[in-house]
Amino acid sequence: MTKRIALTRALRALPILALAAAASATLPAPDAAAHTDFRSCLAELRSAAAREGVSGATFDRATAGVEPDMSLLELLNFQPEFRTAIWDYIAGLVDEERVADGRRAMARYPNALAVAQQRWGVDPHVIAAIWGVESNYGRNMGKRPLIQSLTTLSCHGRRQSFFRGELMATLKILERGEIPQEQLVGSWAGAFGQTQFIPSTYQRIAVDFDGDGRRDIVGSTVDALGSTANYLARSNWRAGEPWGYEVRLPAGFPESRTGRTKRRALSDFASWGVRKVDGSPLTGPGQAALLAPAGVNGPAWIVFRNFDAIYSYNQAESYALAIALLSDRLAGRPGIQTPWPTNDPPLSREERREVQRRLLAMGYDIGDVDGIIGSKTRAAIKEVQSRIGQEPTGRAGLLFLNALRGG
Ligand code: CA
Repeated sequence: MTKRIALTRALRALPILALAAAASATLPAPDAAAHTDFRSCLAELRSAAAREGVSGATFDRATAGVEPDMSLLELLNFQPEFRTAIWDYIAGLVDEERVADGRRAMARYPNALAVAQQRWGVDPHVIAAIWGVESNYGRNMGKRPLIQSLTTLSCHGRRQSFFRGELMATLKILERGEIPQEQLVGSWAGAFGQTQFIPSTYQRIAVDFDGDGRRDIVGSTVDALGSTANYLARSNWRAGEPWGYEVRLPAGFPESRTGRTKRRALSDFASWGVRKVDGSPLTGPGQAALLAPAGVNGPAWIVFRNFDAIYSYNQAESYALAIALLSDRLAGRPGIQTPWPTNDPPLSREERREVQRRLLAMGYDIGDVDGIIGSKTRAAIKEVQSRIGQEPTGRAGLLFLNALRGG
């Protein structure tokens, strides 16, 4: 549930004044007050943890020397000034690179994926797609220490009670010795491991799938794959059923018939002229809904109950669609057939890195070449767009890349 916010770029940390320096001042500086508040808040959390069965020794060891990271509050309140178009979002998650990486990654765990399919009934390509989107197949799990993030957000900001629950779940992981503290790092909001579970989800859902006695979604890919399968099974995944498929809409199809929650009999959609993208009649289990995230002139999909199971992982339709489409590609099925309704097609991560390399070569400080179009890259793109007579949107699309390539 924290994946979207996990994608936001980190903001610069605010300096925290040392307590000694603040104590010598006549009036405490605001940061010193925050520090004192944080210490008394920690004391309160210690009692709350004890009531939940976390020993004082575990709490003290976990929180020794911890300082609040006030930069997290900016992330908590972050409002994106730039809305990513659905086609850019999908293109960054479902590109040839992630498909090739995913096939190699699946080939390393044939038994775990097969046994997971037997035990939970979940399509291994969907398990792998979630793994690929959540942590780039275990490569990128986030770097922020959970105890620091969750104590900060338990004591400051507008969702303290939610984060207290996550902190307590984290402390229980430490109390039971399931995962060492140095490995409990992740997104700013506490999602961690190869599946990016938040700690309370870990508590409910994670499984010891490799049988070593620990539920280790950080160090054990097998545990991570099993835990993802268990998550989908608990979200009412139905064995053997498809998530959905791309369809073709007749001209003038009313937008009002689209929407994930507007479920109907498949025969209704058929009677309205909806066909599979290859022109054949609709097939599939039970009720369905029609997704057209870029409107009825863009690609559209019939989705079934299993799409909702994927959706439950992160409660965003764009996210669920990315997982579903990546799973299709991993299974050897084709990608999107209908063009997105734009004359400026989206870029893959490799093409985004090319944009960044070219901007760097032009002298723009865009930070690391990581394929992520953050605020620095966007600012540079805007400047170049203005100079070359393109609309200064800050978006990296094919028209912009072609302009850079043309010199
Ligand atoms: Ca294990």
